Amino acid sequence: MKCVFSGVKPTGIITLGNYLGAIKRFVDVQDQAEQNFYSVVDLHALTVAQDPKEMYENTLNIAAVYLAVGLDPRKATLFVQSHVPAHAEASWMLTCLSRMGELNRMTQFKDKGRGSDSAGVGLFTYPVLMAADVLLYQTTHVPVGEDQKQHLELTRDLAERFNRDYGEIFVMPEPLIAEVGARIMGLQNPENKMSKSDDSDANYITLMDTPKEIEKKIKRAVTDSENAIYFDEENKPGVSNLLSIQSVLTGQNMDNIVQSYEGLGYGALKKNLIEITVDHLTPIQQRYQEIRHSEELTNILRHGAEHAEAVAGETLKKIKDALGLVRL
Ligand code: ATP
Ligand code: MG
Repeated sequence: MKCVFSGVKPTGIITLGNYLGAIKRFVDVQDQAEQNFYSVVDLHALTVAQDPKEMYENTLNIAAVYLAVGLDPRKATLFVQSHVPAHAEASWMLTCLSRMGELNRMTQFKDKGRGSDSAGVGLFTYPVLMAADVLLYQTTHVPVGEDQKQHLELTRDLAERFNRDYGEIFVMPEPLIAEVGARIMGLQNPENKMSKSDDSDANYITLMDTPKEIEKKIKRAVTDSENAIYFDEENKPGVSNLLSIQSVLTGQNMDNIVQSYEGLGYGALKKNLIEITVDHLTPIQQRYQEIRHSEELTNILRHGAEHAEAVAGETLKKIKDALGLVRL
């Protein structure tokens, strides 16, 4: 892999879904890629009204999580999106290349905006900003959860259109979507994906939940009335979701996990998963506490922004030249 880019919005704290579908994978690939860029995409968070104080804290929280889960600043460039103005600039240029119809087809906009007149314009155009994020780094691979697949296809369409009309500038990025864990479902509502902006906090586990909270949430997770443990997403979404979580957290394959529960009921599955989750998250939480208010964190972000700016700036120059914008 030549270059990996991904980002997480600073809206609330990170859920187990974000971690298993995306952030854990950032760590898994950082040694395989020549270059890694991971951004806290604060401009994306603005698509929905945010409390400024929370926005500020959440941005640093996500950056601290990046380090706590094991991203290594010597291998990965960690930065805040708004520190690199090229993102907003390139986003405008790509917006002018985008069509109403293709943005209208984005299912996430349909879900979140519900086609209403009062839906934010940012919510509508945010996939273009995401395209700019990815394309500015000549990214070859983008580790994301399944919900971002469609946005990445748009990114490729825009890159292709630009390359065709203005000259070959952009590299075609590919999504890196895990086989297991790419779509962790809500604990209370396993028909929908686990989401950090969910109204009910019983629906998600956050990386910062205490052992007690984790226990309570997993115990209350919706299952079904069969009391037999096997993987069947369609007919047993709740149980299958718990099995997927165990699989990604432990790295064990699904068949082995299912076999290990032979003859056992949901109580055993939940008890075991509580222990696995608490054991996995405790060291992450400890590192997070150490780093969150450290000078090291701000230094890493400052350095990250400088490097990101240099790389993105090169691409931005090429875009401007291709479009005939005068640079003096
Ligand atoms: P929001 O509901 O505010 O959009 P979110 O939980 O979807 O919040 P994002 O910051 O939009 O969080 O997404 C960060 C990354 O986490 C993306 O790569 C996304 O695909 C991934 N992701 C989000 N939810 C899940 C999930 N339930 N399972 C796996 N991956 C997920
Ligand atoms: Mg999302």
